[in-house]
Amino acid sequence: MSVPRYWREEVPRYRLLGKECTGCGAKFFPARPVCTECGSTEFKDHKLAEVGEVVTWTVIRNPPPGFEKYKPYVVALIELEDGMRLLSQVVDVDPDEVQTGMSVEAVFRRVKEDGKTGIIQYGYKFRPVVE
Ligand SMILES: [Zn+2]
Repeated sequence: MSVPRYWREEVPRYRLLGKECTGCGAKFFPARPVCTECGSTEFKDHKLAEVGEVVTWTVIRNPPPGFEKYKPYVVALIELEDGMRLLSQVVDVDPDEVQTGMSVEAVFRRVKEDGKTGIIQYGYKFRPVVE
């Protein structure tokens, strides 16, 4: 059984897979075609940390089409344990309870549903770490 193309293309996001420049070691997520530090085009996979903390965040009350049923929701800039930063939705949390420095962990969740095609997009999101 062949893996659908859609699924294969989603894997990097699902796994929080970035790229590390083999020339200078700079790390990128999402991947870039050319290293912004040294101009190299040679990269190897870099698995991002799955735990980090909230640097800053915003509460989305007027989301774009496809996300209406999730509102209000939190989108945060998250610094991972390996120093990488990314933007992600934060789930399983009351928007009023999000704080700078809050520990979060990656989870694999439904991101968006396309009503016409029935395709459901999955990707990473983050949720508070339950102590
Ligand atoms: Zn480089």
